Amino acid sequence: MSKESLLVVSAHVGDFVWRAGGAIALYASRGHEVDVVCLAYGERGESARYWRMGMGLDEVKAARQEEAEKAAAVLGARVHFLDANDYPLNETPELLDRLAAVYRDTTPSVVLTHTERDPWNKDHEAAHRMALEARIIAQAPGYQPDGEPLGAPPVFLFEPHQTEYSGFMPDVILDITDVWEKKLEAMRCMEGQTHLWDYYTDVATRRGVQAKRNSGPNLGLKTDTMGEAYQRVYPQVATELA
Ligand SMILES: [Zn+2]
Repeated sequence: MSKESLLVVSAHVGDFVWRAGGAIALYASRGHEVDVVCLAYGERGESARYWRMGMGLDEVKAARQEEAEKAAAVLGARVHFLDANDYPLNETPELLDRLAAVYRDTTPSVVLTHTERDPWNKDHEAAHRMALEARIIAQAPGYQPDGEPLGAPPVFLFEPHQTEYSGFMPDVILDITDVWEKKLEAMRCMEGQTHLWDYYTDVATRRGVQAKRNSGPNLGLKTDTMGEAYQRVYPQVATELA
């Protein structure tokens, strides 16, 4: 088994859990390195439950950080918090540099991030742009030339909340059945967004049905297959088609 490493660029702390928790747990369970970067905590825009409970900004951030650390531990990932503020998540040269440094430090073989479009959440679009741009910068030999340039890790986009309206068309369905219980446990760490637990269980169930339908009866996938959908950004390079 070759050693791989997964890098997940998440706008807010919940995003990596709902959308890529299965992939993270799967890679970690196989002994691969997994790093998650949370650009912001989602403190202003994705923590309504805590604001309604009367918490202040610093309390919300601390609570969300604690949740994300617990979820990452359940999934088997390291988590990095860049604390760049949310709503809006501003793209700055400094933030790009910090993200490019993560690419150079972790040398991922696979990258997961948000879709290009999300009409409900411009922070997600900003995270997408920065994830791609930081990767490109980190590949340049002349960028911080003392460091080792990054290779060409494929980038997969994880599923947005409102799929069709965000122009998401999956071309990969990952079978996450073996790690589903871990994803569920990680989702339940996200106390600030309890309303999403059932929603993302339903999403995984539907993607699991599609995984079965598209893999043929001989593979013998289980009837309770759970899935996670992804869309590639760059072409797959291969020596055979199937
Ligand atoms: Zn988000």
